Amino acid sequence: MAHPSIVILTGAGISAESGLGTFRDEGGLWAQHRIEDVATPEGFARDPELVVSFYNTRRAQAHEAVHNAGHDALARLQHEHKGEVLLVTQNVDGLHEKAGSVDVVHMHGALDSALCGACDHRWPAPLKMHVGETCPKCNQPSARPDIVWFGEIPYHMDRIEQALAQADIFVAIGTSGNVYPAAGFVQMARHVGAKTVEMNLDPSETVALFEDTRPGKASLTVPQWVDGILTS
Ligand code: NAD
Ligand code: ZN
Repeated sequence: MAHPSIVILTGAGISAESGLGTFRDEGGLWAQHRIEDVATPEGFARDPELVVSFYNTRRAQAHEAVHNAGHDALARLQHEHKGEVLLVTQNVDGLHEKAGSVDVVHMHGALDSALCGACDHRWPAPLKMHVGETCPKCNQPSARPDIVWFGEIPYHMDRIEQALAQADIFVAIGTSGNVYPAAGFVQMARHVGAKTVEMNLDPSETVALFEDTRPGKASLTVPQWVDGILTS
C-alpha cells in the first residue's frame, strides 16, 4: 500500500526514558499515592489540596522533561508520511508537542490545561494551580486540572473511532493495555482489517491481539519502525 492511514496510540512508556515515571514504576509518584485519592472525581471532592498538589508536581516534572528519540520519530512520521497519521496519546505530559508533533489528540487531557468544573471552559494552566481558583469565563471557584480521571469519559472519542474505522495500520507504544477504552482500540482496528503493531518494553495485557510485536525501549523500536514506514 502506497500511503497507508496510520493511527498511533502512545502511553506512559514512551515518556519513561524522559524520566517521567510510568504508572507501575516502583518508588515513583504514582507508587506514593492511591489512584482513588489522586485520579478520581471522588478523590478531588474529598481532598482537593492533595489532588492539585499531585498534579502541580507532575506538571513541574513534565515542564522540565525533555522529549526522546521515540517522540522525535513520531513527529518525523507526521511531517514526512504522505498518508493520514493520527497521533493519540494517553499521556498528559506534552512531550509529543515538545518534539514538534502537531494536532496531538490528548484523550486523557493535559497538564498544561485547566478546566472549569462548572462550565467546562478551558484555559492554559499556570505552572502551579491553587484550589478554588476562579474560572475566567463564569467566575466560579471551580478550576481543576484538565485531566480525565478514572470514571470520567475520555476526550475526542468520536474522532479516534472515525480514524480507527479507516486505519490501515494501528500501532500501540508504551501502554500496558489495562485502561479502557484505549485498550480496546486494537480490537476496533482488527475489525476493519488493519495491521496491528505493539512496541512495549514488556508484553502488554493485550499483546495476543497484535500481529507484529516489537519488544524493547521505545527510543530504539519507534525510530526503527518509522524508518521502515518512510522507506517502504
Ligand atoms: P502504564 O504505566 O500502565 O504502562 C506503561 C507501559 O510502558 C508498560 O507496559 C511498560 O512495560 C512500558 N514501558 C516502560 N518503559 C518503556 C520504554 N522505555 N519503552 C517502551 N515501553 C516502555 O501506562 P499507560 O498504559 O499509559 O496507562 C495508564 C494511565 O496512566 C494512562 O491513563 C495515562 O494517562 C496515565 N499516566 C500518564 C503518564 C504521562 O503522562 N507521562 C505517566 C503515568 C501514567
Ligand atoms: Zn466556568
